Amino acid sequence: MPDIRIIDGRAIASGLRDDITKKTRILMDETGRVPGLAVVLVGKSPASQIYVAAKRKAASDTGMNSYVHLLSEDASEADILRLIERLNTDQNVHGILVQLPLPAHINKQKIINVITPAKDVDGLHPYNLGQLVLRQNTAVPCTPKGCLYLIKSIRHDLTGLKATVVGASALVGRPMAQLLIQENCTVTQAHSKTADLVDACKDADILVIATGVPNLITAQHVKDGAIVIDVGINRIDECRLVGDVDFQDVTSKRNCAITPVPGGVGPMTIAMLLENTLEAAT
Ligand code: NAD
Repeated sequence: MPDIRIIDGRAIASGLRDDITKKTRILMDETGRVPGLAVVLVGKSPASQIYVAAKRKAASDTGMNSYVHLLSEDASEADILRLIERLNTDQNVHGILVQLPLPAHINKQKIINVITPAKDVDGLHPYNLGQLVLRQNTAVPCTPKGCLYLIKSIRHDLTGLKATVVGASALVGRPMAQLLIQENCTVTQAHSKTADLVDACKDADILVIATGVPNLITAQHVKDGAIVIDVGINRIDECRLVGDVDFQDVTSKRNCAITPVPGGVGPMTIAMLLENTLEAAT
C-alpha cells in the first residue's frame, strides 16, 4: 500500500465516548439529570435489531438511560404517533430515535415530523435540517456529523478544497454536502442520475460515498492525496461486510486517507448519537 493512511473510526469514536462519559457524569453531578435516549423499533429486521442493541449498549456504557420501545411489524401509524407523543412529554427522555427503515405501510416523514425538534437526536426533523441549511446547526444528523469529524482528523482547515458527495439521501448525502459547504469547500453532489461519476469524483480532495452500491468507487474515481470516507454498509454474504469503495483498488493511490468497512464511519454514527443526546439533555 503506497503511503496510505487508514482512518481508524473505532479508535476515534472510543475517545469521543470516553469524553461523553465524563461529561455525562458532570451533568449528573451538577444537575441530577441523567440523559435518556428512547429508541423506537418497529418490526423484527435482524439488521435493525443489531443496530438498536448497539445503540442501547453504547448509551448505558456512557451512563445514560436508554429505553427501547419495540412495536410489532403491523403496528399502525397511529400507534407509532401515540408513542412518540408520549415520549415528547416524558421528562426522562431527552432524545428520541426512530430506527429506520420503517415498514412499507408507514409514512416515515409523517413519523419524524411529530418528534419534538429538541429531542430529534437523529437530526432528521425538517426544523433541524432547515437549521443546517441556514448554518444555525441544532441537531446535526449523526452519520454526516461523524464523517466530518473523521475528515477533520486528517485535515483541520478544509477551506477551498473540492469535495464530492456521492449519494443524496436526506439521511446522509444531503446533510453531508451542507456540512462541507459550511467548511468552505466547493461541493459536487453526485447521485444515481449523475451522467459521469468518474468525472464528478476524480478531482475531489474529499470524497464521501453513501450509496449502498458495493465497490462502486474504484481507483479511477480517486485522486492521489484524497480523503475517502466510505459510509456504505453492504452485506455480501452471511459474514462479509463491504463498503461502497473498492478498498483494495483505492489503496493503490498515493497519499490517500481512507476509512475501512467495518471500523470506519459506523462507530462514529453511534458516538455522534450519544453526543446529540448529551447536548439535548444539557
Ligand atoms: P439511500 O438509498 O437513501 O440513498 C442512496 C443514494 O445513493 C441516492 O441518493 C442515490 O441516488 C445514490 N446512488 C445510488 N446508486 C448510485 C450510483 N450508481 N451512482 C451514484 N449514486 C448512486 O441510502 P442511504 O440511507 O443514504 O445509505 C447509503 C449507504 O450508507 C447504505 O449502504 C447504508 O447502509 C449506509 N449507511 C451507513 C451508515 C453508517 O453509520 N455507517 C449510516 C447510514 C447509512
